[in-house]
Amino acid sequence: MTELAARDDRSQASARVLVVEDEPDIAALVAYQLAREGMRVETAADGRAALAAANREVPDLIVLDLMLPGISGYDILSALRGQRATRDVPVIVLTARREEEDRIRGLELGADDYMTKPFSPRELVLRVHAVLRRARQPAVAAGGRLFQAGGLTVDLGARVAALDGRELGLTPTEYRLLVALLERRGRALSREQLLAQAWDMDSEVAGRLHTRAVDMHVRRLRAKLGAHGSWIETVRGFGYRFRSPEPEV
Ligand code: CA
Repeated sequence: MTELAARDDRSQASARVLVVEDEPDIAALVAYQLAREGMRVETAADGRAALAAANREVPDLIVLDLMLPGISGYDILSALRGQRATRDVPVIVLTARREEEDRIRGLELGADDYMTKPFSPRELVLRVHAVLRRARQPAVAAGGRLFQAGGLTVDLGARVAALDGRELGLTPTEYRLLVALLERRGRALSREQLLAQAWDMDSEVAGRLHTRAVDMHVRRLRAKLGAHGSWIETVRGFGYRFRSPEPEV
């Protein structure tokens, strides 16, 4: 871990994390590990309690088990993404091993990362730190407008992407993905490069996050770009490239 990352991790000590898990042993283990990092941890055993807790005080991050009694993890994720107050809260979903469809569905619904059970508590702590670090990153270095063309405006200072003056409502991951593509517009980026940049993960962790996650987020991003979705080109067997009219500014 770099010195900077270590410093960031210390500054995350006060982060508030909501752990949504109905299995008491797992909930207690996760809560214990995160509390040891100095984080403030709240646990919820079902969807109703989870949404109540998230609305009472918006957490900095949510660890969400997908398999819950009553309201499913998917529905909780949709509800979180559908409310202004919680739509940007980073979410790490917990899924059963081998249930690839679960992971994909979770990512489609806007989860930032996932872990399959059984998982190593230490790895979860690392992922929580990585996701918090990403979420707290200020807009890329200098402010100001990065890109404006065909009605699309991405303002790095304000950290806003808008189309014809209407905010696109990107999730933090979608926003970083768009910025990563824009910063190298015209050039192809591999899925691995996009994972490393938009997810800002150690390559070790990124390698384990299925590159399919990139495809899911690109799909969502294209949909939000509407008619301009085609500006993000698929580079067969490699990754993606942002190609558009020359920037106006
Ligand atoms: Ca469960």
